[in-house]
Amino acid sequence: MRILIIEDEKKVARALKEGLEAENYQVTLAPTGEEGFFLVNAETFDLVILDLMLPGRDGLEVLTTLRKRGLETPVLILTARDAVEDRVLGLDSGADDYLIKPFAFSELLARIRTLSRRGRADQVLRLKLADLDVDLVTHKVRRSSQVLDLTPKEFDLLEYLLRHQGHVVSREMLAREVWQETVRATPLDNVIDVHIARLRRKIDDPFETHLLKTVRGVGFVLREDKP
Ligand code: CA
Repeated sequence: MRILIIEDEKKVARALKEGLEAENYQVTLAPTGEEGFFLVNAETFDLVILDLMLPGRDGLEVLTTLRKRGLETPVLILTARDAVEDRVLGLDSGADDYLIKPFAFSELLARIRTLSRRGRADQVLRLKLADLDVDLVTHKVRRSSQVLDLTPKEFDLLEYLLRHQGHVVSREMLAREVWQETVRATPLDNVIDVHIARLRRKIDDPFETHLLKTVRGVGFVLREDKP
């Protein structure tokens, strides 16, 4: 089992590495969020142990970005901050479990065993519909092996629609989930429509079959209509 530890405190990181290696885990250390982020994208781990307080890109930021990109490796958060809000925030951001520092090593081992049993071997790193293929790690979008050039927002929009393929998605859902607009002070409908139109121009217009459909009065759906 391969474990990535993202922790800036050298003493803590080294102690964890030695302890876990003694238990026959393979351990890689990353002293910064950036390095951890790079390693997670470059290699495959079975578990990520993530310290929240990191210099530069902090733990929550790393976690949120990873989850957005579809990474489903279990993440165990280590935090000195024991405020309830922080824990909730961590779990909301996609952490599977957390430990408050200082913790007993035996407790860490128990949590690791639980997480590895739960496992998530079926990682979703690609999303597909018909000949449309989206790589969530490299952000490459292809249709009929043709590489399509999407803006980051168009990519997020496509990813959301693909995750809900076959189901109608409303503008309200898109505003909330893709634009992260919790309070709809300014209606995003026009912005959403413009992005949908641009996305359609890229993923559908050059191709024979169209996948992105408008459901009048309701929203949009990404679906392959079988002849
Ligand atoms: Ca730290």
